[in-house]
Amino acid sequence: MEILERIDYLKNEINKSNYEYYVNENPYLTDFEYDKLFAELKELEEKYPMFKTSDSPTQRVGSVSEKFFPHKHKYRLYSLDNSYNSEDLEKWYERVCKEYGRELELVCELKIDGLAIALTYENGVFVRGVTRGDGITGEDITQNLKTIKAIPLKLFEPKNLEVRGEIYMPKSSFEKLNQEAIQNGDKVFANPRNAASGSLRQLDSTITAKRDLSMFTYTAIFEDDADKSFKTHYDSIHELKELGFKVNPNIRLVKNIKEVIDYLHEWDSKRFDLDYATDGVVIKVNDIAIQKDLGFTARAPKWATAFKFPPEEVKTRLLDIELNTGKTGVVTPVAVLEPVQLAGSTVSRASLHNFDEIKRLDVRIGDEVLIMKAAEIIPKVIKVVENSNHAILPEYIPPTRCPACGSELVEKDGQVGLYCSNPDCESLMCAKIEYWASKEAMDIDKVGPSVIRQLYDKKMISNPVDLYKLLPQDLMMLDLIQEKSASNIYMSIQESKTRPLNRLVTALGIRHVGKETADILTNEYPSLDELKNATLDQLSQIEGIGDIIAKSIYDYFHDENNLKLLEELKNLGINPISKAKPKSDKLAGKIFVLTGTLEHMTRDEASDLIKSHGGKTSSSVSKKTDYVLAGANAGSKLDKAQNLGVIILTEDDFLEMIK
Ligand SMILES: [Zn+2]
Repeated sequence: MEILERIDYLKNEINKSNYEYYVNENPYLTDFEYDKLFAELKELEEKYPMFKTSDSPTQRVGSVSEKFFPHKHKYRLYSLDNSYNSEDLEKWYERVCKEYGRELELVCELKIDGLAIALTYENGVFVRGVTRGDGITGEDITQNLKTIKAIPLKLFEPKNLEVRGEIYMPKSSFEKLNQEAIQNGDKVFANPRNAASGSLRQLDSTITAKRDLSMFTYTAIFEDDADKSFKTHYDSIHELKELGFKVNPNIRLVKNIKEVIDYLHEWDSKRFDLDYATDGVVIKVNDIAIQKDLGFTARAPKWATAFKFPPEEVKTRLLDIELNTGKTGVVTPVAVLEPVQLAGSTVSRASLHNFDEIKRLDVRIGDEVLIMKAAEIIPKVIKVVENSNHAILPEYIPPTRCPACGSELVEKDGQVGLYCSNPDCESLMCAKIEYWASKEAMDIDKVGPSVIRQLYDKKMISNPVDLYKLLPQDLMMLDLIQEKSASNIYMSIQESKTRPLNRLVTALGIRHVGKETADILTNEYPSLDELKNATLDQLSQIEGIGDIIAKSIYDYFHDENNLKLLEELKNLGINPISKAKPKSDKLAGKIFVLTGTLEHMTRDEASDLIKSHGGKTSSSVSKKTDYVLAGANAGSKLDKAQNLGVIILTEDDFLEMIK
């Protein structure tokens, strides 16, 4: 059956690509190739629904459920006994070794601070994922887990097994999520674990799909007879990797307890460099026969223990509370501290999130406070240290005026935080322009906060679009440092005009639309014009876009000021066409050669467009060439095409062809 074979091929390629990317961190397909295969698979599955299976990568986008159902674990999930110092550990090791009269090999694993889950595979297909719960019964969150790309939907071999792993959110993604929440006046998560848990417990798993979650697998129960013979835990972990699971690369096999203690010392500080939170180390006896022999107490295995790192907390004094106005106009308080050493670095600022948090902590300027850095990159104030001084310090009163422009601050319905009421607030505008120029948006690398502030203060820019109107001589009026010359800045701005549509949509700063949502939108709509004309209904029908996000996008494109900005962008030649969605076979079998500078897209984008309509590109003109797409300043290729009688297209001709 040809179609079924094709579907299998597509599924395998996509699964392999996910594995290489998310487990081995080694890209296997380009984004374009991936999108193309994915779209083809989706189309085939829509056409032949009988071939759609639960292990298909198209099942990763999520769906909505009414509630989570309890599920009784087939194998109990035990907890671990904890050790808090090396004496505890040595005692444990002595107890374990006593019966055997020799030192036993151990395996050290970083304890990931996330959520434990159990995954069931039948014939190599992921069928169920359940939270730990009380270890006996958990909740079935299969749909949500399917959105996590580090979880294989299908293993490389058709095995039956249950694996356990820890779902976590990388620290960098957590910081970003909280930053967005602060800007939007939403609630912030206390730590990456809570963020991972909150993301996993969404009844609408399209939300889970947008959160950056991952999983490290740390143990498995093999059910096939042939697999039950693993002699060591360490070998079984390697097998898990072979089957397609992500395992933590810092696992180490050691000979005795002394080497465990070396491992603890090593990771005591190194753990802060990792992009995931660890709160300790799990130590297990390596030999599986000995594990079985040692057995369990009522609640924990005797052959394993968890060492907990002490929390990283330190006392210092709160010198001031600094206020910043962000790109949504929200005013955020930041604690200014007496500099202090914490987790290997000097800390002089800490997060206070918002004014409700200050009230809750009753923190006052001059107080002695406890700050903590558990998993976060930016430390936070966790409490006021009891002191006699506290009572005589004045209570902190939230500001009533914007620290930047002096306008009145207002509250917004359903949101935490105070907002500047002035839509032209300088701080808000500068933050918007900074976001526009940032790496994940238009990536204008020579234009950072200080350049933006200067341009704004000199009244040379008042919005992001003004950047593109600057001339090299305007930029010469700035105080520039070192490698930043006016011409470099100018080039950097001009170069950003060619960013693809998904970047531009991100840069617009539409509420709830970050990079991921921008990708979804530009897969659906290849130009700003088409996106602008989308109805609310059309938007909310896109997979991965909920009603709230749809409304926010729709509102953005129906605001007069925004439309004016879009029109200006277009006039400045910033109007990219997206490349992702394979649209037709209009150009099937046709060979194109590109030459010269195109007006509305880069050559790469044009090339992707050709491919997405089934055509091919070549670098040199020959008799086989069907079309030469020529932009401004076309060179010898154009002459050659004329000599050979090849059809020459202008950019407009080309766009007309694929319309
Ligand atoms: Zn303001």
